[in-house]
Parts: sequence; C-alpha cells; structure tokens
Amino acid sequence: MVTAQHPKYAHFPYDRWYHKYYYDMRKIANNCARCSVCKWIDSWEVKNPRFAKVCPSHTRYLFDAYSCQGRMDVALALMDSKLDPDSSPKLLDVVYKCNTCGGCDASASATRTWSLCG
Ligand code: SF4
Ligand code: SF4
Repeated sequence: MVTAQHPKYAHFPYDRWYHKYYYDMRKIANNCARCSVCKWIDSWEVKNPRFAKVCPSHTRYLFDAYSCQGRMDVALALMDSKLDPDSSPKLLDVVYKCNTCGGCDASASATRTWSLCG
C-alpha cells in the first residue's frame, strides 16, 4: 500500500509495476549515505584535479541537486510530498539536466560494493 504518494497522483490506478518501481526508488533513495562518491572519479585513478569530477551536470551547475546525491534527495522529497513538482520549474531542470551518462553508477559501484545507489 502506497502511503506517501503525492496527492496530485493519488487518483492513479493501482498498477503493480508502478508500485514496484515506487518502492524500488524509495529503497534506492533511502540508501543514499551522502558519501559524495558519485561526484568524483575514484581517487586512486585521478591524475589531475581538473578531471577529478565524474558528474557532468554537477560540474556544470555547481549545485548538489544536480548530482546523483542531490537527485536522490529530490526523488525522496517528491515521494514524501515535501516538494510539489509544480512549485518550481527548476525541479524539472534538475531532472532533465542528468544526461544519464552513468558516471555516478560507475564511481559508486567501484568503491561501494554494498551500495544500492548510482
Ligand atoms: S555515491 Fe550513492 S550513497 Fe554516496 S552520495 Fe552518491 S548517491 Fe548517495
Ligand atoms: S548519470 Fe551522469 S549526469 Fe546523471 S547524475 Fe549520474 S554522473 Fe551525473
């Protein structure tokens, strides 16, 4: 049973796939330990500080919301109805500025074998 769905979408029909996706997303977002590993190249591999960052959108916009970690926070806040998706056009900007390059996944997977994030 979904209890924290945004009121705007409360009328959505019951959908097993949607509910599984919802719970998986919640599990992943809740597992963010705020370690910031998703923002950086594995430090053993960094040869030059200019190339130390892994996330292109975080590098460009210099704000945490534009990193994987920040997007976990935004996703959780949306699921908990702490953010209204219509409240700010910047919210969609945060989502769509991710180019799904997978850099965060590569970094987090390389150093956090127990991780569910990235
Ligand atoms: S690597 Fe994963 S757990 Fe660490 S801050 Fe990034 S999203 Fe969160
Ligand atoms: S997929 Fe790429 S752009 Fe999106 S959060 Fe991860 S590293 Fe950043």
